[in-house]
Amino acid sequence: MGSAMKQMRLRLDTRLVHAGEPVPRVGGAVALPVFQSSTYEYSGDGGDYHDLKYIRLNNTPNHAALHTKLAALENAEDALVFGSGMAAISTTLLTILGAGDHVLLQDCLYGGTHDLVTKDLPAYGISCGFIRADKPAQWQAALKPNTRALYVETISNPLMQVGELKAAAAFAKKHGLLSLIDNTFATPVNFRPAEWGFDLSLHSATKYLNGHSDIVAGAVIGSKDLIGRIKRKLDHLGGSLDPHACFLLHRGLKTLGVRVRQQNQSALRLARFLARHRAVKSVNYPGLPTTRGHARAQALFDGFGGMLSFELRGGLAAARRFIQGVTLPVVAPSLGGVESLITRPATTSHAGMSPADRAALGITDSLVRVSVGLEDIIDLTEDFNRALRPV
Ligand code: PLP
Repeated sequence: MGSAMKQMRLRLDTRLVHAGEPVPRVGGAVALPVFQSSTYEYSGDGGDYHDLKYIRLNNTPNHAALHTKLAALENAEDALVFGSGMAAISTTLLTILGAGDHVLLQDCLYGGTHDLVTKDLPAYGISCGFIRADKPAQWQAALKPNTRALYVETISNPLMQVGELKAAAAFAKKHGLLSLIDNTFATPVNFRPAEWGFDLSLHSATKYLNGHSDIVAGAVIGSKDLIGRIKRKLDHLGGSLDPHACFLLHRGLKTLGVRVRQQNQSALRLARFLARHRAVKSVNYPGLPTTRGHARAQALFDGFGGMLSFELRGGLAAARRFIQGVTLPVVAPSLGGVESLITRPATTSHAGMSPADRAALGITDSLVRVSVGLEDIIDLTEDFNRALRPV
């Protein structure tokens, strides 16, 4: 962004388009080109290893533009992209935690994160404990003298619940913990964690940030100091993002605002339609008063997101029939793309969790999860309606 633009208080959609763009533009190119070069000329003045311009060190022009744009979107100081959302999460946790440390996490988490902290981190001497994100009164009892961080998700996957997010950031501050939040489901359009006191915001950029189901990428956003520490770890662990994927993520980001606002609207309409349908037992969507955390979502978010899940009265057999019956949504894991996706989390995102753990959290085998895409909502609703008809 040019200096005149920096002085203006630009709104999110303008920042999506202009923040981080090189000044002057490279060769006058309106779109930042892909810098498909693994290494860069070295001036020979003996700087720090981490400042060498090299593709694994995540500092090519494509990386730099993304870092500035992502930080601007969440009103934070700095950002860093990664080769996947899991690379962002694992590199960040391994930066801020070491042998002997303990981390408190929300009980209902993305399955990959849950597996990482329960199955991999113990081998590094890092232990974890779980809390209900909507029960702050219980958090103090879960604290240990070696607890270093608190980790939550803005909208929990797959039950779409919204915890006491403001209280979580305040609790972490009070007890000297770093507060981390996975903001993948909300996106910076609906929620900006730094504005509510979170130290680090994590994203699977594979999802809404890119928005087209064609790359894998991750991001972490926070203070210059913390991002600098995480970058050093990333330089060694090597989960950097390829410049061509940077280019695609950069292109996808420019339309994030229009995409997410449309998905907010469509998901709300679909959630309301499902909640009224007699074949549907219950619907989980932060925009519905019946979903736990609706009032908090109203207070904290600019929109309720494009993700919903629901249970059919006919249980597992009906869920299977429904998924086979819809024609527009693609039956596939992942989320946040232009096409609607549908899955049963017990067989995809949460398959790594034991059936007992899933049952304790209320994730049944029959739960159906939908990532609402950009299809016309009338077509989508009619398709769902057809598939819900009794056979
Ligand atoms: N966080 C959330 C909420 C996710 O849904 C996912 C993937 O589904 C991840 C993190 C991991 O991201 P990735 O698949 O880009 O590694």
